[in-house]
Amino acid sequence: MFGVVPKVLWEKQKPPDELNRVTMDMNCLLIRDGSHVVLVETGAGPKLNDKQKRNFGVDGPPRLLDELAAHGVRPHEVTLVVNTHLHFDHAGGNTYRDGDRLVPTFPRASYVFQRLEWADANAPNERTRGSYLVDDFAPLEATGKLELIDEAVEILPGIRLDRIQGHTRGTQTVRVTDGKETLFFSSDFMPDRHHLPLPWIPSQDLYPLDTLAAKRTILPRAVAEKWIVAFTHDVPRFGRITEHEGRYRFDEI
Ligand SMILES: [Zn+2]
Repeated sequence: MFGVVPKVLWEKQKPPDELNRVTMDMNCLLIRDGSHVVLVETGAGPKLNDKQKRNFGVDGPPRLLDELAAHGVRPHEVTLVVNTHLHFDHAGGNTYRDGDRLVPTFPRASYVFQRLEWADANAPNERTRGSYLVDDFAPLEATGKLELIDEAVEILPGIRLDRIQGHTRGTQTVRVTDGKETLFFSSDFMPDRHHLPLPWIPSQDLYPLDTLAAKRTILPRAVAEKWIVAFTHDVPRFGRITEHEGRYRFDEI
């Protein structure tokens, strides 16, 4: 998770278990106004087999639909699904198995991805193949619910998607604003608060120097504009970033 950072440094921040694993969550974001119900990410979903669950260390059953229900949202009420990228831990809940058919979990929603991510997920190579599970996204094409975007798009008033090459070519971040406050959903561009220091970049990133360049631009903005920052793989989930003598700090809100 921490790339070139030696274990003697990262294990103080994030102690590993006996198998050298660290705990990570798979956070989804629910955004609602009067007429739209937007879901960002769908977690690992219900389709992983026992071997995949063991290999990826996925504990427990998926919680997304129960948590949506707890917020009064039923699957057919979701109008838009955004995946920041198409790795299984972000897109797995897009679809489920109904007998031998694969169907969209959110039948009335449009599903929004970057066009480059769609292209790369559908043509993986030896390095990227393990992270893309075709059943998570391929069935969506036939439903006509796919919406492919390029670069930066205000997908709804106040909800902006920006492609940031780094983790993959087509990873996108999400920024939500009501005109006063801005919330930034990091995606795997910065998976958790331990990735605030500039060189702490996961070895999974396909373009780590692009991640670095984006961090140099985005982190000062997050500080200056007092963004609420939500990390994809962290608990705590929401906080603000401050900077003291060149070091970034995260405080939960
Ligand atoms: Zn991820």
